[in-house]
Amino acid sequence: MREYQILLYYQYVTIEDPETFAKEHKALCDSLGLKGRILVATEGINGTCSGPVAATTAYIEAMQADPRFSNMPFKIDEADGHAFKKLKVKPRAELVTLRLGVEDIDPHQVTGNYLNPKSFYEAMQDEDTVVIDARNDYEFDLGHFRGAVRPDIRNFRELPQWIDEHKEKFEGKRVLTYCTGGIRCEKFSGWLIEKGFEDVHQLHGGIATYAKDPSTKGQLWDGKMYVFDERISVPINQVEHVIVGKDYFDGSPCERYVNCGNPECNKQILASEENEHKYLGGCTDKCRTHPRNRYIEAHNLTLEEVNRRLAALEAEALS
Ligand SMILES: [Zn+2]
Repeated sequence: MREYQILLYYQYVTIEDPETFAKEHKALCDSLGLKGRILVATEGINGTCSGPVAATTAYIEAMQADPRFSNMPFKIDEADGHAFKKLKVKPRAELVTLRLGVEDIDPHQVTGNYLNPKSFYEAMQDEDTVVIDARNDYEFDLGHFRGAVRPDIRNFRELPQWIDEHKEKFEGKRVLTYCTGGIRCEKFSGWLIEKGFEDVHQLHGGIATYAKDPSTKGQLWDGKMYVFDERISVPINQVEHVIVGKDYFDGSPCERYVNCGNPECNKQILASEENEHKYLGGCTDKCRTHPRNRYIEAHNLTLEEVNRRLAALEAEALS
């Protein structure tokens, strides 16, 4: 048994005064020595945090003593230390940034049918099924269910158009949605139903739950799962490991995420160590030559060395 745990949880439930709740909740987490990122809104709570097992256990007990959270499921990963540098507990307008506006969904009113991992695994393999990834592009790029489609849902307002353009994918089909922990699908699947889709299902508990299910063993997942803590990614499929990530620079198989060295860009890119060095940690020429390039700083590169590498890239581009 490892000494730390990382928790992932959410609950859609009315929190009357998110600001006060967030302050008191931060005090509770501080007193337990937890670190992490917890969002509080009128519509509920969405959190991930880490701490020694005694602290995470006490936290779960404290939450379950509150009737609002007595049934809240916790996904628990074991760890050797904290997975966050700080503790942030913040009041927010919404738990996940979907910006549905007037079309906002209350999952207690409308949401897709919940499928447990085994049912999801079986449903995925039906040819009349289409599986939609409800996460961001950089998450999908590192790993996803085999054959899943990914709409650009960074801005939900683009989704109707995207679905219109890809109608043939969905017509007469059963639609399955999934995301990391399940919170996004609660609204996304409900939104699909509101839009007229009739046969909509969601992976209950998300990929995080699917990974631990003894019957599915994470099968049909390719790559790794992106997580929003210092681990960056975790394995899902316990039976086989197919790499789907591609190096940003040369397209070779890659599962190593780095942030662009330009602090104003900070884009997450998959890159081998070798290519990170070769390209000075920057995703574009502009980022490579940015005066505050963190890669150049961190590696104490001399101006000569920077110029040598830039010249080599230029020579390669011309050849
Ligand atoms: Zn960049």
